[in-house]
Amino acid sequence: MMIPTKAYAAYSAKEPLKSFSLERRNPQPTDVQLEILFCGVCHSDIHTARNEWGGGTQYPCVPGHEIVGRVTKVGASVKKFKEGDIAAVGCMVDSDRTCEHCKAGLEQFCESAATFTYNSNDPHTGGHTYGGYSQRIVVDQDFVLRLPGKLDPASSAPLLCAGITTYSPLRKWKVGKGQKVGVVGLGGLGHMALKFANAFGAEVTLFTTSPGKSEDAKRLGAHEVVVTKEEKALENQANRFDFIIDTVSAKHNINAYLGVLKRDGVLCLVGVPPEPIPVAAFNLIMPRRQLAGSLIGGIPETQEMLDFCAEHGITCDIEMIRIDQINEAYERMLKSDVKYRFVIDMASLG
Ligand code: NAP
Ligand code: ZN
Repeated sequence: MMIPTKAYAAYSAKEPLKSFSLERRNPQPTDVQLEILFCGVCHSDIHTARNEWGGGTQYPCVPGHEIVGRVTKVGASVKKFKEGDIAAVGCMVDSDRTCEHCKAGLEQFCESAATFTYNSNDPHTGGHTYGGYSQRIVVDQDFVLRLPGKLDPASSAPLLCAGITTYSPLRKWKVGKGQKVGVVGLGGLGHMALKFANAFGAEVTLFTTSPGKSEDAKRLGAHEVVVTKEEKALENQANRFDFIIDTVSAKHNINAYLGVLKRDGVLCLVGVPPEPIPVAAFNLIMPRRQLAGSLIGGIPETQEMLDFCAEHGITCDIEMIRIDQINEAYERMLKSDVKYRFVIDMASLG
């Protein structure tokens, strides 16, 4: 038996999202069923809904991987959660759990391919997975996170992607005191990168194309703001930075950011522009700079990040929308007009 569930979906790359009805599986013994309260809106939702990443989108596509909800049912062998708990689901809902990456808590790199929250093959239904722009979701307990009671459910939802995607590389490259760190782009990911880099004790600079975001950037944790459209803005920063996290969603010149790194500095890409970006070899080989990338974060580290946020009072700066405002929210994000994450109040699905 399946559970009928209201949702919003893209029916093709070219159409706005609209109502859709899907079915969730009945909870199996290790499953948790959540009524979704809030779902954040990630730029990956737009890339996927519009099939911008190499033709891989399966339609109808129900995006959403920043999910906070209330547990309404648990399977017979679920120990971690009970009815009434507030819990969260991020970008993954399963993996093989046996490969070296899963054993290391890095399920996002699962050898058999992790089951992502949307647009992955769904072994339970034979179709594809549907994400959080929906009334409810059923997920194996191992991929459900505890939301600490201190965290506000709505403004914590974007921690499940924007939060972990920026927390994880800052931890991996041990960003902290005495280091000069750059964040490129102030959107959903960028605003969390500012908060985390600041909380870890680094000296933080925002690189932005939007002069109007300077004051907010300082409130969010930047010590300095560089408006990259100004002449010589990046040349003036040459050889100064230990680490840069680049969150930009569209084509841009990464050679300019390689140029501001010190010897052995790291430029870590987390943004995923649809087209390849050229790299000039001299920008890497001269002072031995490194170009790197990072994909979300594993389940143990996601829980660690949520606990860190609870301890340090960190949540996201959000603008709440109704589900019928989703297409307008996408257009605003494409104009870099988001402060700094849209979150859908799922009660608006009706
Ligand atoms: P977002 O909220 O739309 O923010 C992106 C920001 O990039 C914009 O606010 C803008 O900041 C800057 N930007 C946009 N277009 C630009 C351009 N043409 N040139 C220079 N800067 C530009 O997006 P998001 O949700 O943070 O996601 C950002 C990217 O990360 C997306 O590509 C998304 O798919 C990807 N992502 C990756 C992972 C991962 O695991 N690696 C996880 C989640 C998301 P300013 O106004 O400050 O310039
Ligand atoms: Zn995301």
